[in-house]
Amino acid sequence: MSRALHAVLGVLAVAALALITWQIESPTEIWPPEEADCKELPEHRGKKGTQGWRTWSDEGLRAFDHKGAYHCVPQGWSPVGTLDHVGHRARWNKKQTAVLVADKVWNVGARSYSTDFEVRLFWPKALGAKLFEQTDALLAHAFEEIGRLFPPLPDALKSEHHVLVTAGHAGHTRSYDTRIYPEPGPDLSVVVRDPQQSRGHELTIHAIAHLHNRHRVGRADGVAPPIPQKDWEELVATWTETAFIRSHRGRMKRLEYLYNVHTAVQTGDHDLITGPPFDDAERFWQITPNVVVAAGQPSIDMQYGHYILAPLAMVGTEGLLARAGVEDTMVEILRDTFHGSEDFFGEVEERLGPAGLATLEGWLHGGETIDADLVWAGAERYRDRYQRVGSPTR
Ligand SMILES: [Zn+2]
Repeated sequence: MSRALHAVLGVLAVAALALITWQIESPTEIWPPEEADCKELPEHRGKKGTQGWRTWSDEGLRAFDHKGAYHCVPQGWSPVGTLDHVGHRARWNKKQTAVLVADKVWNVGARSYSTDFEVRLFWPKALGAKLFEQTDALLAHAFEEIGRLFPPLPDALKSEHHVLVTAGHAGHTRSYDTRIYPEPGPDLSVVVRDPQQSRGHELTIHAIAHLHNRHRVGRADGVAPPIPQKDWEELVATWTETAFIRSHRGRMKRLEYLYNVHTAVQTGDHDLITGPPFDDAERFWQITPNVVVAAGQPSIDMQYGHYILAPLAMVGTEGLLARAGVEDTMVEILRDTFHGSEDFFGEVEERLGPAGLATLEGWLHGGETIDADLVWAGAERYRDRYQRVGSPTR
């Protein structure tokens, strides 16, 4: 044989050996997956979140901390709200809690609530048809009303979004200890309460508001919010609860509670307080009434500024608009803000003049008392809103 032929055969032999070796070593789909491929689910330790258990483990639901690593999805389970899910591996956005649901315990379906998101809804089979229908209708309403405030998302942000209904999975939803609330984020929203609770309506609306103003924001970079970002997100989200809840009785019940706390703070009458988190008298006396809450301020300042003062100031401004005979409502003001000017205070001033804006700023930052009649006049406009479109009010 010539040296050239030897060389060719040699090359072919090496190539054949390489091919055989590659085939032997090539990764194949195996079960269970290799350790290096994905991490096993961590041992469960119950951790509390803002509205219930943040982490959870039972035969139907796992919610756990993950640090962004790929975790192995056991057979018969589906990951919820993932950043990335291929085969038996899934990972989640670091801001969210990782969630897996057992396929035999949960239903899943595509929902057309929004043109901005392809929504997949996960709900427990045990929820039953009636509560499912109420939850489904509530979500459709929340996505529709809140979606209208914000401009359409750019295509790059329109990926699938998962909504997980945990209501009822751990028992009734009137107690913190029987609610499950994994941390939401860009890929996950959570419905934590029974839709028959009016607080459940409000918090579902609040969650969808944060999906639009915190987790998936289409706004151009570099636009400064009118007040610090986190406070602004809460000002808008707590207002949406009050404006878009469809039960006028539920709305009034909530506003009466908020106004009672406001009166207690303004007059220093702690006896008006009926429950947590303001029942701690020592902390109550230290409240700084401002919707802007700096990092490091006591949590009671945040509870008051974001969840009591913010919605009251917004509904009070609605009352100013009603009293001044301005046809536009806060819905138009926020829609114009988000669709164009991004200048919320400018939009308010355009309708109410400098004095109206100064009144709002005095409520938000100056510790001024909000006139109760303005709150009731503002709330009345939201009752009208649903009567006009023929929606049910209770
Ligand atoms: Zn919030």
